[in-house]
Amino acid sequence: MGKVLIIGAGGVATVAAVKVAKNADVFNEIMIASRTKSKCDAIAKYIKDQGIRDDIQTAQVDADEIPQLVELFNAYKPDLVMNLALPYQDLTIMEACLQTGCNYMDTANYEPKDEAHFEYSWQWAYRERFEKAGLCAILGCGFDPGVTSIYTAYAAKHHFDEIHYLDIVDCNAGNHHKAFATNFNPEINIREITQKGLYYENGKYIETEPMEIHKTLNYPNVGPKESYLLHHEEIESLVINYPTIKRARFWMTFGQQYLTYLDVIQNIGMSRIDEVTYQAPKADGTGMETVKIVPLQFLKAVLPNPQDLGQNYDGETSIGCRIRGIKNGEEHTYYVYNNCSHQAAYEETGMQGVSYTTGVPACIGARMFMLGLWNKPGVHNVEEFDPDPFMEELNKQGLPWHELHDVDLELD
Ligand code: NDP
Repeated sequence: MGKVLIIGAGGVATVAAVKVAKNADVFNEIMIASRTKSKCDAIAKYIKDQGIRDDIQTAQVDADEIPQLVELFNAYKPDLVMNLALPYQDLTIMEACLQTGCNYMDTANYEPKDEAHFEYSWQWAYRERFEKAGLCAILGCGFDPGVTSIYTAYAAKHHFDEIHYLDIVDCNAGNHHKAFATNFNPEINIREITQKGLYYENGKYIETEPMEIHKTLNYPNVGPKESYLLHHEEIESLVINYPTIKRARFWMTFGQQYLTYLDVIQNIGMSRIDEVTYQAPKADGTGMETVKIVPLQFLKAVLPNPQDLGQNYDGETSIGCRIRGIKNGEEHTYYVYNNCSHQAAYEETGMQGVSYTTGVPACIGARMFMLGLWNKPGVHNVEEFDPDPFMEELNKQGLPWHELHDVDLELD
């Protein structure tokens, strides 16, 4: 039994909180803390109204501020801190965990606010300090990264002597019936997909123009969808942890309308992350003043909130790993995937499928930690732990997986 502190109160945090609350055999105390306390209270109320649990605590914290985090952690004394805020807060929360003796988990790797660039080096730099403190940090425990990394570990453990080719395929075949909306935090999402593409081949990374490489792939129960090669963070740790990999790529589907909107957003400068000056009305109504705004943050404020998409969202996601490698001297292919219905996710948690596919693995990872199955000092990507108990829980907690052997992977 353990005490968990969830930081953040967005779509992913809501799903994780609902699921953690349902895992009462493992989590005896739960607190949700975020920048806006009323959002934490709304999650606690939702969980109470569903008849799941009525003892969830809430708190206000600015996770950019280490002293505030330290004060909260010292007062609440969680066994595990689940960082489900934004990637910008990864390092401050890790630092506060070290200062207070708490274990750490997240779903996305660190990204500085002023540079649209993510990589693990910033968080891996904490390895020695976590090891020395006897604390565990679990990195990237959502779906991708997260389940896709665990699928790869499971394939390596049970189906291959050597993995040679890894393609992670992420399809959202859902429809939220809005002209344009992102499925998770718009700022983080638009930063991610407007970057250059990147994949790993024969020991080197190869850069592409954004969305330059694309291919039609068939997804189970969905059909053909145009899939675009993107840079995605799990590739970075997987090629290190599975050095037999010759090539690793990540593909995500986008509809033509979405790409057209994205093109316009970029061309009119609304995806910029630098500050621009702007004439805004003064708060006291006495004229205008010069203020600074970051266009992408402004855009986030006017786009639909991903948490509000759930009600009218239909269709499903289909995310998996397509793997080619060697077992007993023979080449085999393997495709392991989950399909998740947006409506079913909404009915259970009030959130759409993308939040659900991220929040459920975060809850399972926390469960693995609390049970002592995933707990070793240091900073670890999820594929470094035993995949079997996690895979078993996926089937029980709402994200069942399917596997296909020796099929055409559609990717040479
Ligand atoms: P949201 O924008 O819906 O929620 C983010 C939450 O973090 C908000 O409640 C926000 O507070 C809070 N927050 C932001 N800054 C701070 C701060 N300084 N201090 C305290 N709280 C803060 O995002 P999502 O729920 O969609 O995503 C959450 C995380 O999940 C992101 O890191 C995202 O990258 C990751 N993710 C991972 C995926 C995976 O498969 N691995 C897939 C999808 C998302 P406020 O409400 O006040 O704004």
